[in-house]
Amino acid sequence: MELWQKQLSASVVKVEDLPFVSGSEVYKEKLRRVSEIFPIRINSYFLEQIKEENDPLWKQVVPSVEELDDFLSAEESLESDPLREERDMPVPELVHRYPDRVLLMLNNQCPIICRFCTRKRKIGFPGIVTRETLRQGIEYIAQHPEIRDVIMSGGDPLLVPDKELERILSALRDISHVEIIRIGTRVPGTLPERITPELCAMLKKYHPLYANLHFNHPDEITPEVERACNRLADAGIPLGSQTVLLKGVNDDVEIMKELMLKLLKMRVKPYYLYQADMTLGTDHFRTTVEKGLEIIQGLMGHISGMAVPYFVIDAPGGGGKVRLLPDTVIERNDKEVIIKNFEGKVFHYPQPVDKKSKPRRADPAVPAATEKLCEMA
Ligand SMILES: *Cc1c(COP(=O)(O)O)cnc(C)c1O
Repeated sequence: MELWQKQLSASVVKVEDLPFVSGSEVYKEKLRRVSEIFPIRINSYFLEQIKEENDPLWKQVVPSVEELDDFLSAEESLESDPLREERDMPVPELVHRYPDRVLLMLNNQCPIICRFCTRKRKIGFPGIVTRETLRQGIEYIAQHPEIRDVIMSGGDPLLVPDKELERILSALRDISHVEIIRIGTRVPGTLPERITPELCAMLKKYHPLYANLHFNHPDEITPEVERACNRLADAGIPLGSQTVLLKGVNDDVEIMKELMLKLLKMRVKPYYLYQADMTLGTDHFRTTVEKGLEIIQGLMGHISGMAVPYFVIDAPGGGGKVRLLPDTVIERNDKEVIIKNFEGKVFHYPQPVDKKSKPRRADPAVPAATEKLCEMA
């Protein structure tokens, strides 16, 4: 067994084994009920990175009784499938929402189970994705020439064994209209030993390949994680990141700044910052939208533009991602646009005008030859 397989099989999956859970037997009994609905998984690598109760890593993986509150509350907008992915599945476990790209689920297993997961309804329950759903997914892609971008998701596609993963990649590469393949994964940041030289050597045969890695807090970036990201980048895979805005974990400008700069430094280009979805059992992680805008405002202009992700809301009901920006346009009309920079200073940018309809400017600096040109026009 390889190290990462040992770390995965030594995962905490039971309430009794959770780290730093003080609390009464009654409380633990409630947690047991939570875990029957939403399973627990903390692999032994990630477990080692947790330093204490309520630290930013602990909060992401240790269940809370608040997960059950959503079942009791009158908040009806919370759903088990807030993005209506199931509605946009022409075949099982393949989401076709945008014109030219699809999301293909390779499994339901993850290196850790995030308590705020948007696919909380599926993750950790085996048997949803099967060889047959995969076959149908690949067949659907082959039959739809408009699909040029396939996003491998799950679960976590990098938990699929090398051989099986190669079989899928090679089947996708056999489809001539598939231009790029993306891997959406939390493995590099939560089970870095999985990124073996053998895996990278295999992946690099299937370029152009991109990967978007899930990171939420600077404490997730350890020397092991840096090495994993380096290996992927050295295999020629451009790396992006996706981050979920989480109350009590990373809803803070300074924490986000540190995270984005650390990512950029290890060749991971921050891609998306997500407003938390309206997923049943995750409401206690939700911040206001203003918090996200405030964070983007605190990043834009202050640090490299390369380090600033797009802030998006994945529209409830399945509308897809919508980008939000802090207000940089104060006013816009036919004559000018009034804009605000990162320091809050205001600038006027004039719109182009039809020069012929305007009286000529009397400018002594204009040389005689130019005068001549103007007369000719
Ligand atoms: C996010 C997402 C994509 C990819 O969107 P990009 O903006 O191209 O990164 C594709 N399909 C689904 C269903 C998605 O949720």
